[in-house]
This record gives sequence, structure tokens and C-alpha cells, in this order.
Amino acid sequence: IYILGIESSCDDTSASVICDGKVLSNIVANQEVHAKYGGVVPELASRAHQQNIVPVVQQALEQAKITKEKVSAIAFTRGPGLMGSLLVGTSFAKSLALGLQIPLIDVNHMQAHVLAHFIIDDATTPPPFPFICLTISGGHTQIIKVTEHFKMEVLGETIDDAVGEAFDKSAKILGLPYPGGPLIDKYAKLGNPKAFAFTKPKVGDLDFSFSGLKTGILYFIQKQQRINANFVEENLNDICASIQFTIVEILMDKLKNAVTQTNIKHIAIAGGVSANSEIRNRLKLAEKHFGWFTYIPKFEYTTDNAAMIAITGYLKYLNKEYADVSVTAKARLKVTEN
Ligand code: ATP
Ligand code: FE
Repeated sequence: IYILGIESSCDDTSASVICDGKVLSNIVANQEVHAKYGGVVPELASRAHQQNIVPVVQQALEQAKITKEKVSAIAFTRGPGLMGSLLVGTSFAKSLALGLQIPLIDVNHMQAHVLAHFIIDDATTPPPFPFICLTISGGHTQIIKVTEHFKMEVLGETIDDAVGEAFDKSAKILGLPYPGGPLIDKYAKLGNPKAFAFTKPKVGDLDFSFSGLKTGILYFIQKQQRINANFVEENLNDICASIQFTIVEILMDKLKNAVTQTNIKHIAIAGGVSANSEIRNRLKLAEKHFGWFTYIPKFEYTTDNAAMIAITGYLKYLNKEYADVSVTAKARLKVTEN
């Protein structure tokens, strides 16, 4: 079974071909246009998707060494995301499925981040049900109990900013370009995580809050810069390491609460922030220290990619859960909505 997956929910245009759950290609075109604006500009994102989608799909087919006639079904991201971006992928997927007269499958992007764990790969094993998934992305921060592929329950989530936003906004305060998360990770490797202390938020057991932390960081930097105008340049590594340490501490605290409450020790992470090296290290340590079993996705399946859309489509294909051609994109879609 060949599934062509198409992802266009935010600022990455991606297409992937998988065969019986194994990835044959996973092409991602990053949109560079947004860096200079300090965030994604929706209007520019949809235009870039429109430019990229045909070549990206063609490349995905070429790399998979198949012709489009071999594709069994087309899976696309229906939501959540930016409406203009979603419309490009949705319309393209519909037209191609109609043209090829093959099933069309709508995919929930947040379910796909979680289900990326079911991509068949020699290097990884999928988590057994039930497991806990910490979804940490640019728009979401959730602790999910997954009892079946498409049976997910949100146990806790952020009451304000997402963790990816916390990384990106902190980076912006430090004068780093968008998206700053990977840069904080990079500089943190050279810094002392205990150099500066930031206050952790107080919210419910399994909920998150990051807006206070961001403000705390802003005030701290402003205060230090009044004393020394070069404070950020001189201490960049230590600042990044301290910010990252605080964020990862918050995530680990909540995961510990989730394990205590559910007694489930199979822990997966998903979403763009799961590319972060510190959270990956800390989870590995938790296997030793707390007896957890942890599931860390391959780097390329953490940030937005179409392979995760294709694997989710494949799982739906096996259940013959096809979309109607009248299906429309949905900017707001909960992880629990099928
Ligand atoms: P959502 O999936 O919630 O709709 P999104 O698709 O925009 O949001 P992802 O692509 O899953 O989000 O993740 C992007 C986020 O991941 C950005 O905020 C980025 O800064 C962050 N990120 C990527 N790599 C790292 C890293 N190594 N360390 C920290 N953050 C990172
Ligand atoms: Fe995403």
C-alpha cells in the first residue's frame, strides 16, 4: 500500500510517500521568507505553499521511485493550522485524488504528531498502548493518554503559550531570528544551565503555563542590560542553557505527575520541541532513574513533516476511513476530533 501524504498547515510544505508504513521519501520545503518578520506571516505562507506544492510532491514521488498511478490513497492535513495554508494542501490533495480516482484521507495534524511513532523504522519501536504522549510543538503543549491509535484523551495542556512559543519568544528577546528554538538548543550546549534561575509557574497538576516565564525572562534581561549593555552577547550561552533548563524542568515535572496519576510508564514525546537535545537527554535518564520506557521520535519526524501525515493516513486506510470529496480544511481542530 502506497500512501502519499501532504502537509501544509503552517510554514513548511511537505510531501511523503510511505509503503506499508515504511518511509520512502519525506520532502520538506522550509519557507525562509518568515525569518525576517520574526514569525510566520500567514499571507506569505499560503503563497509559498502554492509555489512549492507541485515540485515538493513531484520530488517525493521521484525519490520514492514510483509514479503517481501507483499511489493507493492521498492523506492530507485538514487542520489545525493557518486557514490559507491548509486550503492549499486540501485543494491539491482533493484534486489529485479525484484525478487519480483513489481514496482521499483527512488527517488531524495533532494526531499525526503523536502517530509519527508508528512509522515503521529499524531504529525505533512504537510505544505499546496505553502510553502517555507529551506533545510539545509550536502551537500546542499537551499531555495525552493514548489508548488506541485514534483514541486520545487530553490529561493536561497549556493555559496560555505553547512551549515552542516560549522557546521562540525567549529567543526573540535575546535578538535571535525566528524560529529561535533550535538556536537556544545550540547555544545551550556551550552554557551553564545553573547560571541564572528563572521561576517556574504554578498551575494545576498536569497543566502548563509559559507566559509568566517569558515575562520573567524579559524583565531579567532588561534589568541586566541597564547595568551592562553587552549582557546578552557576553552571556548568551549561559542564558540559553538556563532558559532551556527551566523549560525542560517544567516538562519533566509534569510528566512525573502524569506517571504518578496514571501509573503508565510508557512515555512518548512528539512535536517540534521534541527535537530539543535536553528533553531527549532527560528522558533517556528517566529510563534509568524512574524505570520509564521512553519513545523519542527520529529527528526528522518531530517538526512538521508529511511522513507523519502519511502514516496517520495509512492507519486510517486500513480501517477504510476515507474522506468525502466535500471535506473542508478546519483551522481549529482538537486532537480528540476525528
Ligand atoms: P503545531 O503542531 O502545534 O500546530 P507547529 O506545527 O508550528 O505547531 P512544530 O513544527 O511541531 O510546530 O514545531 C515547531 C516548534 O519547535 C518551533 O517553536 C521551534 O522553535 C521548536 N523547535 C524546533 N527544534 C527545537 C529545538 N531543538 N529546541 C527547542 N525548540 C525547537
Ligand atoms: Fe506541527
